[in-house]
Amino acid sequence: MTAVNALLAGLADSSVRIVDLTNPLSASTPTLKLPEPFANLIDFSLDKVSEYDEPGPFWKHHNIHTGEHVGTHIDAPVHWVSGREGHDVASIPPERLIGPAAVLDVREQVEKDPDFLLQIEDIRAWETANGPLPENGWLLLRTGWDRFSQDQESFLNADDTGSHTPGISAEAALWIAEQTSLSGIGVETVGIDAGRGAELDPPFPVHYHLLGNDKYGITSLQNLDKLPSVGAMLVVAPLPIVDGTASPSRVYALVQDPA
Ligand code: MN
Repeated sequence: MTAVNALLAGLADSSVRIVDLTNPLSASTPTLKLPEPFANLIDFSLDKVSEYDEPGPFWKHHNIHTGEHVGTHIDAPVHWVSGREGHDVASIPPERLIGPAAVLDVREQVEKDPDFLLQIEDIRAWETANGPLPENGWLLLRTGWDRFSQDQESFLNADDTGSHTPGISAEAALWIAEQTSLSGIGVETVGIDAGRGAELDPPFPVHYHLLGNDKYGITSLQNLDKLPSVGAMLVVAPLPIVDGTASPSRVYALVQDPA
């Protein structure tokens, strides 16, 4: 049996499950809000052109209006100044978009501190328990933040001092960028950096280090609780937007059910 046939057989008999990690995309999907004086993207919206009526008697269709970085999406290297000579979202090689998932659960730490930042030692501890981070893989940070994914206010968790959402420290971002063979990281929050990422050195270190090292970032994931720490296969499917800095993406995991 070929590997593809084995996978198809697993899907057919449901011993391989597909877990959708994508937040459904609508006008109410929470989005990042940059403070003054920065300019924000538009939210997602549908604009009806016809609905089985005079402008289109047999069909319904819409125009879509959206920023690139809306909902579950992938950041491409050209998004950041450090990756400006790198891939746009259309030129990310597809083989980098399918790979093993490593799920690191920090819900306990985040419960105590919404500004929690993942440290190198947390990744080292995960590796001690689970083995080395996988080549061409994705480190997925399970924070529990997906429970807020339907509500802008709690998802951004902002006050006078800024947004309080968990993320990755500058040291760990640099380490992931330079010392691992990952394709990238995935988070449950609105952006790949922590809410207070602007205060780190460099500012927004996950963007700076990963995108500057041809690694990618996925945001607004959900259902990570349905994945094992190791053994799932991640599939990321962005639109091939030429010169795009990101794209809303469908993100799936394929999981082998325990026999
Ligand atoms: Mn983004």
